[in-house]
Amino acid sequence: EQPMIYAITPTYSRYVQKAELTRISQTLALVPNVHWILVEDSDEKTDLVRNLVADSNLLVTHLSIKTPVYEKLGDEDPRWLKHRGVEQRNLALKWLRENLQHGKDKGVVYFMDDDNTYSVKLFKEIAKVKKVGVWPVGLVGGLNAETLILDPNTGKVTGYRSGWKADRKFAIDMAGFAINLDLILAKSQAAFSYRMEKGFQESEFLSYFTTKEELEPLADNCTKVYVWHTRTEKPNVKGVVPGLEV
Ligand code: UDP
Ligand code: MN
Repeated sequence: EQPMIYAITPTYSRYVQKAELTRISQTLALVPNVHWILVEDSDEKTDLVRNLVADSNLLVTHLSIKTPVYEKLGDEDPRWLKHRGVEQRNLALKWLRENLQHGKDKGVVYFMDDDNTYSVKLFKEIAKVKKVGVWPVGLVGGLNAETLILDPNTGKVTGYRSGWKADRKFAIDMAGFAINLDLILAKSQAAFSYRMEKGFQESEFLSYFTTKEELEPLADNCTKVYVWHTRTEKPNVKGVVPGLEV
């Protein structure tokens, strides 16, 4: 029996939002046993996302929480300036802890940003996670892919290949790991925080749950790339057609 995969997606309003959410919801439609926890960065749920959820035929928990203004990335700010998705991922974790029962509900938790590109094969890997599973992520960290360095004899993780601070305790992108629901429910204080250093959210979050030695390398011993940290260009919209939900 396949474990339930809880895919947590923070999302925010911008021109490409519906395109991004269409893409990932239709990827998820190809995945058995997925529960999508979609968290809007807004005070109220929007009709655009509500409509998309209703059309998706997926099992969805739709939530919303707004990033405080002083933590929000401005339109012209460089992307590294602010943390993104902190509030939204934490609300999703809270939902899991309030609505699922430790020891009874079984599953794996994955942070699935709305703009990345996911192969359906990734979800077969996620389903194998016992504690914390890891795999390569394409197009991130200044490399064509970030990956794990494995000991050729033991197959265990010994280090990280990343173009950015490879000496982090866990130099792994948000898209490069998944955590068993048991651990998420057991370590109920584990959360993301604005106090974490920029670029260290993943490393600090993973530190609540595991050690480098315990990581489970997946995707054919980390030889396959099944997720890409793609980014969608901001479109140059000069006019808005009224009455169309785009
Ligand atoms: N996000 C959000 N509010 C924001 C900016 C981003 O909810 O103000 C979401 C976004 O939709 C995505 C995740 O947080 O699912 C990570 O953001 P982004 O992809 O911009 O970050 P990066 O690719 O630079 O890590
Ligand atoms: Mn992104």
